[in-house]
Amino acid sequence: ELFLGRIAQHNPLINAFVTLDAEKSRAAAKAADAVRAAGNAGPLTGVPIAHKDIFCQDGWRTTCGSRMLENFIAPYNATVVERCNQAGLVPLGKVNMDEFAMGSSNETSYYGPVRNPWDTDRVPGGSSGGSAAAVAARLAPAATGTDTGGSIRQPAALCGLTGLKPSYGTVSRWGMIAFASSLDQAGPMAPSAEDCGLLLNAFAGFDAKDSTSLERDNEDYTRSLDQPLKGLRIGLPKEFFGTDGDAATMAAIEAALAEYRKLGAETIEVSLPSISQSVSAYYVIAPAEASSNLSRFDGVRYGYRAPDYTDLNDMYAKSRAQGFGEEVKRRILIGTYVLSHGYYDAYYLQAQRIRRLIANDFDAAFKQCDVIASPTTPGTAFKFGEKSGDPVQMYLSDIYTIGVNLAGIPALSHPCGEINGLPTGMQLIGPYFSEHRLLNVTHQYQ
Ligand code: GLN
Repeated sequence: ELFLGRIAQHNPLINAFVTLDAEKSRAAAKAADAVRAAGNAGPLTGVPIAHKDIFCQDGWRTTCGSRMLENFIAPYNATVVERCNQAGLVPLGKVNMDEFAMGSSNETSYYGPVRNPWDTDRVPGGSSGGSAAAVAARLAPAATGTDTGGSIRQPAALCGLTGLKPSYGTVSRWGMIAFASSLDQAGPMAPSAEDCGLLLNAFAGFDAKDSTSLERDNEDYTRSLDQPLKGLRIGLPKEFFGTDGDAATMAAIEAALAEYRKLGAETIEVSLPSISQSVSAYYVIAPAEASSNLSRFDGVRYGYRAPDYTDLNDMYAKSRAQGFGEEVKRRILIGTYVLSHGYYDAYYLQAQRIRRLIANDFDAAFKQCDVIASPTTPGTAFKFGEKSGDPVQMYLSDIYTIGVNLAGIPALSHPCGEINGLPTGMQLIGPYFSEHRLLNVTHQYQ
């Protein structure tokens, strides 16, 4: 009731929630109360959560930020949603996002931009901007997000939260509307590392319904939270700590590193020689996969259908022209182009090679250090319109985060101070399956 009240009061300004259903939320809360009364409560029983509107949720409208799915009611639960329900988490509503998760500012949503609660003239980041703003404005204690190139970590940084992108294959993608399937991964967004660990415990784990889900034993991601940091080796990639970083951001990172040294960590220089190619490689691979994934929105099976058309082809064309926004169309055009005959070798294959080189760089660096630290974003939350007219500027917002998705490894962003009253984040990257370690390191700092 507290959160529903706060949503009623603040959401008209923040625009984080796009769909609410208080009756369903209250029914789930009541069921959780009964579980608690029976003495069967787990750590998350009765805790409200906001789901990014990319997750299918049975009986709830699921828009993915697009006009294409404006009236789509999901007929089943995504595995993430299902497992959250089983853990007793209470769904509060669906939160806003960039259309089909394409963006870094939430300005591409068909349902209007989300405002950053720290300064409502600024963006919350994206694409999980609704998730981040909802938690930062205390409209929800926690939220789910998805991260294809930074969409959990970047909004977490710009809104002062902790957000974790797990190793690829850790969280089931079943029922999560696909953007770039080889990069997409869901994860938790919450105030602290401890919260993120508890949430990940609830929804991670093998799922036969996702062919890329990893068959590993369930683990407790909170198991190492209290481990001291003495002897921890933090790698600082020289490519990220050169002279061209934003001075205030780099100063905040240096201050956090000083804290880490006090906690017993040492810092060493490492190198990621191919990382400068990551944005270029990503903006070939992600649009290529997106152009294929989004072909299902044809006006026939589900979603928007243009009201007037002359024949089948005209119906396809008009439904897609009217149902998709500008950024989504740009991605489909780029993706179709790089996959087309004659260009495939020049672009797509080259990008896949760079992807391998980047993964190799991380492997080599993790022979010298336990985790890698960097800024999460090149600066704090920017003003609406500041980058939306220039796609390349917008794409460069992901410069620190994108390499991680290409390599498939886990990374998180945690708050590390404020710059002119706005939060900034530090990114910690680890080798495959080091989520518990990243959460441990962050917990010790927090
Ligand atoms: N900002 C990046 C993009 O627009 C990443 C998005 C994401 O991680 N979903 O593609």
